[in-house]
Amino acid sequence: MLDYEDEWLFTITDLKQYTYCPRVFYYQVCLPHIRPMTYKMQAGMEAHADEPKRALRRSFEPYGAQEGKRHFDVAVQSKTLGLTGLVDEVVETATELMPVDYKLARKVGYHYKIQLTAYALLLEEAYGRTVQSGFIYLIPYQKTVEVAITPKLRRQVRRMLRDMRKIAETERMPPPTDWRQRCADCEFRRFCNDV
Ligand code: SF4
Repeated sequence: MLDYEDEWLFTITDLKQYTYCPRVFYYQVCLPHIRPMTYKMQAGMEAHADEPKRALRRSFEPYGAQEGKRHFDVAVQSKTLGLTGLVDEVVETATELMPVDYKLARKVGYHYKIQLTAYALLLEEAYGRTVQSGFIYLIPYQKTVEVAITPKLRRQVRRMLRDMRKIAETERMPPPTDWRQRCADCEFRRFCNDV
């Protein structure tokens, strides 16, 4: 979470963590100094660092175009949504604007779709263009996967941002994730005594 001219904005990372488990978000925002840097986080950051150079060599075919422009590390923010983020890559063609997110992952999880949708909303507001779809680039497979930015995903992002704001304002710990298998290797496991 970032302070911005006396208002605070959530980051896209906050939103992704909330989607993964509301408590991870809670610990991060309400108890911000307890999270260790894990090997997984470090590996993800290092893998990201090399991707823009590789992306420059790729064709625009996965984006349904012969040519276009690539913009890297695009900073976007919205006071309306109370959200800020840095998009790994934005592909601009004659008719479309598409966010691309690089992931050191083997599949496109729901939390990645939410993150991509949030990027789409931020880009729409910043550039006044409709974003129909975004892409996840799965680094281990060198594969680009399209994600439709649906009305349902848009509603879910807005609802989550409202819920996140409530948690941050009240500092009340939310219930644990329904996906308890995530708790097994969670770095906050020792703080959750009820899972
Ligand atoms: S241990 Fe489970 S409930 Fe607690 S923060 Fe981690 S994933 Fe969420």
